[in-house]
Amino acid sequence: MSNTGSDSTADSKQAPKASGKFKWQQGDPLPLEINMKWCKACNICIALCPKQVFEPDRDGKPVQARPEDCTLCTICWVHCPDLAITSSYK
Ligand code: SF4
Ligand code: SF4
Repeated sequence: MSNTGSDSTADSKQAPKASGKFKWQQGDPLPLEINMKWCKACNICIALCPKQVFEPDRDGKPVQARPEDCTLCTICWVHCPDLAITSSYK
């Protein structure tokens, strides 16, 4: 029996740990967390993302416009000079 009734875990939408191929789906938390206070709009993440997940907002900061295309390849966050990108999936 898998239904344990009212197991009161408030954040049932917590990001699952990625195992194998990551596939973001509608309703999941966004793949990345971007600290906009630390981001200086250098454009590196936008330029390096092989999947074109980002679009710049009007300040040039990254917006996850196509989260369904993110593979959690890590390129954006390992190259962000301000450590502004993290992911709770990894
Ligand atoms: S690489 Fe980092 S600092 Fe540069 S635009 Fe992306 S999040 Fe902002
Ligand atoms: S983890 Fe990879 S695919 Fe996802 S947004 Fe960053 S660079 Fe793009």
